[in-house]
Amino acid sequence: MRFQNESDIEIDRRLLRRLAEPFGLMAPLPGAIQDDIGLYVGRYLRVRLRPTRRRRPSIPSGWYSCGAISIFPCPDCTPGFVVSVFLHELFHAWLSQHDDGIYLRWNHCSVADRFSDRAFELLGGRWRIKKCGSFRLPRTIPARRHVLYDRYVGTLVSRQGAAIRQWNPNSESRRLTGR
Ligand SMILES: [Zn+2]
Ligand SMILES: [Zn+2]
Repeated sequence: MRFQNESDIEIDRRLLRRLAEPFGLMAPLPGAIQDDIGLYVGRYLRVRLRPTRRRRPSIPSGWYSCGAISIFPCPDCTPGFVVSVFLHELFHAWLSQHDDGIYLRWNHCSVADRFSDRAFELLGGRWRIKKCGSFRLPRTIPARRHVLYDRYVGTLVSRQGAAIRQWNPNSESRRLTGR
């Protein structure tokens, strides 16, 4: 994974690596290996945190395309919010590499949203209101929470074909936590 931080938000790149790992996104990307028209830059996932800037609300806070995740933080964004956007984009990145056909045909952004909310909670993250300034993630995430997260992601990435679309972010998380 290549990580570039042009923002003034401090992000632990080891945490991002650790979150990408159970998706298999730390390995060379299948899409990049098969790419013969030069859409990808390099064979690994690229993550770029753009300069902190106030943006119109219509501008998305994250973006994924051809092996590259971009995150666009504003001055209110907490590191926790950046991580939650990263989780959302990881879902897109994984699906594009795992099953390009489903990725292209299925409007899965709302599932990616629910995935990132539940994953963020499993890691110990909280928010008061759904605004970028209210997302909080502990500086150190206990190992047991990483184990939960890895198992959660495991319930998704083991799926193939139609079963991917049946994956339910909320009920899979409830099954793991018993809540
Ligand atoms: Zn923000
Ligand atoms: Zn999305």
